[in-house]
Amino acid sequence: MDIPSLSIDGIREALLARHFSASELAAEALRFAQTENPRTNAYLHFCPERAIEAARRVDERIARGEDPGPLAGVPVAVKDVIVTQGVRTTCGSKLLEHYIPPYDATAVVRLEQAGAVLLGKTNCDEFAMGSSNENSAFGPVRNPLALDRVPGGSSGGSAAAVAQGTAVAALGSDTGGSIRQPASFCGVVGVTPTYGRVSRYGLTAFASSLDHIGPLARSVKECATVLQVIAGRDGRDSTSAAAPVPNYAAQLDGNVKGLKLGLPREYLKDLTSETGGLFQGGVQALRQLGCQVREISLPATDYAVACYYILATAEASSNLARYDGVRYTSRSASSETLADMYRNTRGEGFGAECKRRIMLGTYVLSAGYYDAYYLKAQKVRALIARDFANAFQEVDAIVAPVSPYPAFRLGEKVDDPVAMYLSDIYTITGDLAGIPCMSVPCGTTAEGLPVGMQILTRHFDETTMFRLADAFERHQRR
Ligand code: GLN
Repeated sequence: MDIPSLSIDGIREALLARHFSASELAAEALRFAQTENPRTNAYLHFCPERAIEAARRVDERIARGEDPGPLAGVPVAVKDVIVTQGVRTTCGSKLLEHYIPPYDATAVVRLEQAGAVLLGKTNCDEFAMGSSNENSAFGPVRNPLALDRVPGGSSGGSAAAVAQGTAVAALGSDTGGSIRQPASFCGVVGVTPTYGRVSRYGLTAFASSLDHIGPLARSVKECATVLQVIAGRDGRDSTSAAAPVPNYAAQLDGNVKGLKLGLPREYLKDLTSETGGLFQGGVQALRQLGCQVREISLPATDYAVACYYILATAEASSNLARYDGVRYTSRSASSETLADMYRNTRGEGFGAECKRRIMLGTYVLSAGYYDAYYLKAQKVRALIARDFANAFQEVDAIVAPVSPYPAFRLGEKVDDPVAMYLSDIYTITGDLAGIPCMSVPCGTTAEGLPVGMQILTRHFDETTMFRLADAFERHQRR
């Protein structure tokens, strides 16, 4: 069994033809993932019992002649900010090192109902705050394609697991780019669906109005299949949308002739030569596929990073208030008073980036500064969303770079938070507007580092996004 070459369709065929059983595959996939892990640190922990049990259920369904589900036997990995019943969920934080959730996230329930086999939980920046995975309390992840480089973040473990072939698909979370940027850095496909498309029930909150769960996989079609499984209304998340979920994979016919695409001027001006060259090559390929490409303007783009780091930190400072040593977390051992206990627990438990964000967030929400920062940023967010709405009056999709550069070296940006924040300059706008967006591989640099192309579409129009990405992927593989 060659685990890294397996696909969702291939596994299904092999199971139905009785080439191997789901239980055999699960055992082999677990063994392979555990052997590979010391190289990259992509997984924080494995859940062999749960995996074997899920595989056994798939084998039983097949033995009874039932449909084993669209993800039958598929080895998957889930970012460690998404809760799993009975399986440790640390959020990459020392504070939650021993936390075992009493329930499953809706997305995880849906994956397993569809036959997926959860191998383990993937490493990430602490509470999903970061762009390189270096903010994890459990050590950074290494990019499987270049071990001295970062995999991107914050869903770096999920992207690395898929890129190294230990998981066929993975779940990540995206608040400002944390699915698309690591997908771009690791050469895999990553999808941030429309806000509300996938239930956030069981996703540990970072910035609730921006948080999304989404899939990573090695092909567009596989991402489409996984999204279809996890998407849809959930009574446990009032922000999850009731919009019907189309059969995405069925609409991938490779024909995108006549599609109108917008190229935002503001995203191209600072692009470094090599990444920019690869991106322009991708745009040329889309023209060859018959798309009509025109330049558009998204004028509020310049304010996006500032706007995001006000709103995201404001929401984070409130969401992280719950880690007080009383409820979920480990508690500081030596404190005289209750106030000391709060202070010591949080002081010892949170890493530097979380502390920085809590301070920034409480500052922008404080009585004297609320109007100047938080309220202003909310207004800017509305302008960014309006830019996209205006653009989508004229074009069906927007294509853009994912990140200004490919995977950088470990340690290269850790001492400069602002340089790190600028990694997400092209991705945070999609989150602020709540529109679907994804990264699809668009070639590699001379050093062999992958670069992704970003595709953004109207709210709930993941179908056009997948159709364009799939046609592009077919063209790239020709
Ligand atoms: N890198 C961004 C940040 O640090 C985005 C993180 C994310 O999308 N979760 O906030």
